[in-house]
Order: sequence, then structure tokens, then C-alpha cells
Amino acid sequence: MPEPLVYKLNDIVEMKKPHACGANAWKVTRVGADIKLSCTNCGRGIMMPRFDFNKRLKKILVVSETN
Ligand SMILES: [Zn+2]
Repeated sequence: MPEPLVYKLNDIVEMKKPHACGANAWKVTRVGADIKLSCTNCGRGIMMPRFDFNKRLKKILVVSETN
């Protein structure tokens, strides 16, 4: 099994499918039972269960330096 990706608040992540606006870079704005993301291009926010997020996450683009 592949190693699960480690992500945290304020990281920029790429998903398996791009947003409807064409961008594929999302900022992680909440980490909990649900993951909240904000599109870095159009600013639209989405929320999904952590389980779904883990399946849809492709890679971490930018690791946040804040804790
Ligand atoms: Zn967008």
C-alpha cells in the first residue's frame, strides 16, 4: 500500500480532478473530520469528509511553514 500523504493546515494541494474553473491548486483551510479547501484561483471553498479527501488528493504542492 502506498504511504498516505501527510498534509496540514495551509498547505497547497493538488487533487486528482481540477476545479471547474480550470485550476488545480487548493489551500487546506480546515483539517478535522471534514477537510475544507479553498481554490487558489477563484477562491471558492469546498468541504468533504477526510476519507474522501484522502482518496482525491494527488499531491502536496506547497508545504506550509506555519504549524
Ligand atoms: Zn476554482
